[in-house]
Amino acid sequence: MQSINPFTGETIQTYREYSYQEVNTIIGQVDDAFQQWKLTEFEDRAGLMKNLQNQLINQKAELASLMSAEMGKILREALGEIEKCAFVCSYYASYAGSFLKNKPVATEASESYITYQPIGTVLAVMPWNFPFWQVFRFLAPALMAGNTAVLKHASNVSGCALAIEQLVRQAGFPENVFRTLLIGSSSVKEVIENPLIKAVTLTGSTPAGKSVAAIAGSVLKKSVLELGGSDPYLILEDADIAMAAQLCVKSRLMNAGQSCISAKRFIVFDAVYEEFKAEMVRLMSEATFGDPLNVLFSIGPLARIELRDELHLQVEKSRQMGATVVIGGYIPEGIGAFYPPTVLEAVVPGMPAYDEELFGPVAVLFRFHSEEEAIRIANATVFGLGAAVFTSDLTKGKQLAEKGLQAGCVFVNDFVKSDPRLPFGGIKESGYGRELSVVGIREFMNIKTVVVK
Ligand code: NAP
Repeated sequence: MQSINPFTGETIQTYREYSYQEVNTIIGQVDDAFQQWKLTEFEDRAGLMKNLQNQLINQKAELASLMSAEMGKILREALGEIEKCAFVCSYYASYAGSFLKNKPVATEASESYITYQPIGTVLAVMPWNFPFWQVFRFLAPALMAGNTAVLKHASNVSGCALAIEQLVRQAGFPENVFRTLLIGSSSVKEVIENPLIKAVTLTGSTPAGKSVAAIAGSVLKKSVLELGGSDPYLILEDADIAMAAQLCVKSRLMNAGQSCISAKRFIVFDAVYEEFKAEMVRLMSEATFGDPLNVLFSIGPLARIELRDELHLQVEKSRQMGATVVIGGYIPEGIGAFYPPTVLEAVVPGMPAYDEELFGPVAVLFRFHSEEEAIRIANATVFGLGAAVFTSDLTKGKQLAEKGLQAGCVFVNDFVKSDPRLPFGGIKESGYGRELSVVGIREFMNIKTVVVK
């Protein structure tokens, strides 16, 4: 397994994959750790979680540089990601105890209540695009719940995976409550099938999710899936166009466009279409790409050369089928897995830019003439992760958010973000289950009924 710097093309490090036997030994150790960890008090877990928060903050600069080197994220965003991980640790340290308190229910019995009990070791299969955040948003609630965990991270960010294991150790958690498994995706099946693994969570592409869900289903283990997205953003006639364009471009270009909840499709009312398009094109053209460690640049390279080439193929095929490339749409000369900010128009069903997720800085513009048409275009996707509406009529915005748009979360007059305090997840082929908030911590718990006559 190799970590290759997507800016320089140089191999940072090569890692040996763990053998079947090594993996089983580690899972056995993690299960042993669970037998003690599940008995610990919330206050003790919270103290350790706060240490983890402090470790993240103390090592922020090194961790952010590692992330930039392995997957190309610009340093400013990498630093922000580590801070967000610290926030999720602090959030669950403060609230896990109250989220998982026994809940009395009135019945005919003398006492009846719900109690939340940990289930054991959970496997997390994670992607490279937010190499720390994706792991921490699972890990903080899992450990606070009394579960233990093993991580199979994306093969190109093994350095981050080992750094997370080290952080947990440095925070003083008992040995083996969390371990990283350096394995490829073909070894995931045997891990899920190991009887000591009780559930699996995967964040990644829809094909990977379907495969993991099928394996988990065959051995009747619970799964949570956070998969791809093609988030629609509706720009209504009464929207503040300058503000909408600025937030849309920010969302589309964050992490070089490699986010499941990036704004990807912009569905704009006919009367304000040209104004929005001009503003979007201006802002997209102003974005500069280059060395992710250099503060001058707003976009780094994509995480791997082949991902950049696949994205370009989606753009190129769409162009050949009749789409218009307004700006961008080429592979820049020189080193680095760069792709320029790109805007497409005249995109119709059957084109990759219409049917598929575009995992890079490519925006697709659509024009609508009625609210029904806008909703139809927005929902004409297999995905259902996030969506946004820009309008000055908040009643209309909320109505579209609640009843119109098929998504796990909808933001009105802002771009979609994950937040430890709010549930996060999708519908349709964007997956099932939820992470974060009170809902996320209960996903991997035995929600047990106790009745006393
Ligand atoms: P990916 O190729 O699906 O990889 C994600 C993880 O799954 C990696 O650890 C990968 O391991 C593993 N994997 C891949 N195929 C597998 C299989 N058949 N069985 C078991 N494990 C498998 O996705 P990616 O390219 O890293 O990430 C981009 C995708 O993730 C996008 O579609 C994005 O929208 C989605 N995503 C979703 C969310 C969300 O919260 N909904 C958040 C971030 C990203 P290897 O690296 O070893 O292949």
